[in-house]
Amino acid sequence: MADRVYNFSPGPATLPVEVLEQASKDIVNYQGTGMGLIELSHRSKEFMAVADTTEKLLRELMEIPDNYKVLFLQGGASSQFYMIPMNLLGKGKKASYLNTGTWSKKAIKEAKLFGEIEVAFSSEEQTFNRVPTPDEYSVSPDSEYLYFVSNNTIYGTQFPAFPATGNVLISDMSSDILSRKIDVSQFGIIFAGAQKNMGPSGVTIVIIRDDLLERTPENTPTMLSYKTHADKGSMFNTPPCFSIYAVGEVLKWLKKQGGVEAIEAINREKAGLLYDCIDSTDYYRGHAEKASRSLMNISFNLPHADLEAKFIAEAAAIGLNGLKGHRSIGGCRASIYNAFPREGVVKLVAFMKEFEAANPS
Ligand SMILES: *Cc1c(COP(=O)(O)O)cnc(C)c1O
Repeated sequence: MADRVYNFSPGPATLPVEVLEQASKDIVNYQGTGMGLIELSHRSKEFMAVADTTEKLLRELMEIPDNYKVLFLQGGASSQFYMIPMNLLGKGKKASYLNTGTWSKKAIKEAKLFGEIEVAFSSEEQTFNRVPTPDEYSVSPDSEYLYFVSNNTIYGTQFPAFPATGNVLISDMSSDILSRKIDVSQFGIIFAGAQKNMGPSGVTIVIIRDDLLERTPENTPTMLSYKTHADKGSMFNTPPCFSIYAVGEVLKWLKKQGGVEAIEAINREKAGLLYDCIDSTDYYRGHAEKASRSLMNISFNLPHADLEAKFIAEAAAIGLNGLKGHRSIGGCRASIYNAFPREGVVKLVAFMKEFEAANPS
């Protein structure tokens, strides 16, 4: 595909070309069945095999222990903001949250509908430019869980290490799942919308420890209870078939790259190229404090907003698309998830140097 641009969009985000090409064939005629992939019954043996493959690959790549269920749900990552407290809280129960950006703030708002919420840390007053170190917060021992967002997509911050408080740990990993090696057994629940680092929008993956399936209050609607989906292998109702398929294809691609450890090394190198460029000059200023920097989303500013607009427009003109920062902080943001090619980062760094030289502040 000669006419592809480098797409720095935060999500939905760039996917491997080979996945797109395979999907375009399978949509028309899936493996010689004479039916397109999105025409297959979700209970057909062909689609059941697709879903099985996707789950097996995810378990293998993330080394998910057997006492965890993998669920394929709909409603976006945002639906987990209420499903988690709906299933785990209730009258007289408490949960704790680390407020490190827009997505945690939204989750806190929903959780308050279901129980008492303790915000153990917030970097809101510093425009969410950092995540806490473990000595900066404490969590009530009677909290049902501690919730945090491992990578803050908008502000470009990421937890370099995870909280270790003894509470059930829950993490929104929408924008960094599969980007680095983690120990799933540290967590009660990990969830992620697929459209940042795993595939197209439409499916949210929830990895949940078995014992947490038993805590759901009686009066929870059937579709909103984790157990409903766990008991039926995510086939209680029609699942998002195409998205599950596409995630599976992305996971096959990831396995071919050498898996999570291999991609983590590549991600570190890619992000390093951009941060080195930012650190080499005062012209570009990274939003995140150094110790909190994200490997996935690099948010930065130029000396003033007019230069930022010019930068974004000129970059797009040479095939570097999607560099506009989120409306809540402005500036620029380069989202460089697993599937974002290294050459695109190299091209951006070269453009940044040229732009600085041609546009003194
Ligand atoms: C994008 C994003 C969300 C929201 O995802 P939806 O699927 O659109 O609901 C939630 N959390 C994080 C960390 C995100 O990056």
